[in-house]
Amino acid sequence: MAQFPCQFNYVEDAFHVEKLSITDLTKKVATPFYLYSYSEIKQNYQRLSQALNKVNAQVFYAVKANSNQAILKVLASLGSGADVVSEGELKRALQAGIPANKIVFSGVGKTASEISFALKSGILQFNVESEAELEHISELCVSLKLTAKIAIRINPDIEANTHAKISTGKAENKFGIEHTRTLDIYQYAANLPGIQVQGIDVHIGSQINDLEPFEASFKRISELVCQLRDKGHEIEIIDIGGGLGVSYDAETDEPFDINEYASLVEQHLTSLGCNIIVEPGRSLLASAGALITQVSYIKNTKDKQFLILDAGMNDFARPSLYDAYHQILPVSLNKKENAIYDIVGPVCETGDTFAKSRSIPSVQQGDYLVIKDTGAYGSTMSSNYNTRPFIQEIMVKDSQFSTIRELQTLEELISKDKLPDWL
Ligand SMILES: *Cc1c(COP(=O)(O)O)cnc(C)c1O
Repeated sequence: MAQFPCQFNYVEDAFHVEKLSITDLTKKVATPFYLYSYSEIKQNYQRLSQALNKVNAQVFYAVKANSNQAILKVLASLGSGADVVSEGELKRALQAGIPANKIVFSGVGKTASEISFALKSGILQFNVESEAELEHISELCVSLKLTAKIAIRINPDIEANTHAKISTGKAENKFGIEHTRTLDIYQYAANLPGIQVQGIDVHIGSQINDLEPFEASFKRISELVCQLRDKGHEIEIIDIGGGLGVSYDAETDEPFDINEYASLVEQHLTSLGCNIIVEPGRSLLASAGALITQVSYIKNTKDKQFLILDAGMNDFARPSLYDAYHQILPVSLNKKENAIYDIVGPVCETGDTFAKSRSIPSVQQGDYLVIKDTGAYGSTMSSNYNTRPFIQEIMVKDSQFSTIRELQTLEELISKDKLPDWL
């Protein structure tokens, strides 16, 4: 695949993000922290949107990948819409300036308050995942005297060849309506008060590096749109979900070119004359973020050498959750020979491991490391496990940096606990 200029690089022996030296930054900001590149986000967005706009498809960023206000604001200013999965994400998107008519609401468990808020906000579309949800939305529309514009999320029963925990388009997954029941459910929806059918939706999983599953799902959707139109349903929007893979490991991950994906959209969907929505999360943000961490200790055992970092699985969960590979590099390449380490966090869990038997340029206690490609599903999946506060987040543009999320204070964290009167 084509390689694009990346904003996270060594300049001589010093790791830089855009024009900022990370060594200089670590003198001003305490680790661990997330670091994002404005230019990388912009470049990723423009690469995707340019390829997709040519085939009448628009980018609706999947907010769950990274929902920071500054990041949403960058994407809003570039013209992105949003795919949200909760009231909180919807509020974040609106607050960052993404207009309601460029927001779709996905997810299997939308609550009454979430649906009501989205209806009052006037969002573009609800992506509905079950009959029960359809009935619930209809009842709320009747009582609020509002109309919900909806698409039904179809489960196309397609193997996406990705990690089991992020595969969503197989019949056994909890998502969508079985594709064989499409006509029935659209008929049912068309007769419900307050419901206006306008689209169809599919999302088969995440971190997909093959085009075949996408092609299979586009074919299925295209057939279904024709069948639905034959029955008199107006389908104006086709939402084809996200899931476009990225290269975390240059040796094993081979993402396709976005232009190849766009050609498949053109081949199977563009002639249907619909507005096409694509919901990328990871492919916009993953490469735009890094986690900067310090080696707290080096511990040698008979068989292993452990690097114990100040970042843990609570800050960045993907390695422990999905055995995900992330490149880990020293901020400063002062020693050139490699060493083999198990790279772990401080959390009291064996699963708090970022890499096993990883060969990297050797480091010393106190050195800084970069965990790369952590811009998507990094900070949004973090937790307070072990009463560790949410870490600081920083955005870089050229050689300037700004804090886009403050370090959570321990006082703030503990103050949410309340004692019963009788204690
Ligand atoms: C998670 C999700 C996405 C984004 O997936 P990526 O792999 O990050 O592109 C898009 N749509 C829906 C419905 C999702 O659940």
